[in-house]
Amino acid sequence: MATTTKTVYIKGKRSCGVCQSMKEAGLSLGSLFLCQDCEQEIMRLEPGEDAYQTCVDALKRLWN
Ligand SMILES: [Zn+2]
Repeated sequence: MATTTKTVYIKGKRSCGVCQSMKEAGLSLGSLFLCQDCEQEIMRLEPGEDAYQTCVDALKRLWN
């Protein structure tokens, strides 16, 4: 049972913290919203890939 990912359905649309797209469903991490596309992208990526680092950097900016 995976406990790290939890898709939430929010009321209205929110801007994804990584790709800036307005999405209705995704991952809510405190004040950060991550769309399903980015969530799956991050799960698929291996640490070290450029795209992975881009996502991680975007998340760090939001969390800091
Ligand atoms: Zn996104």
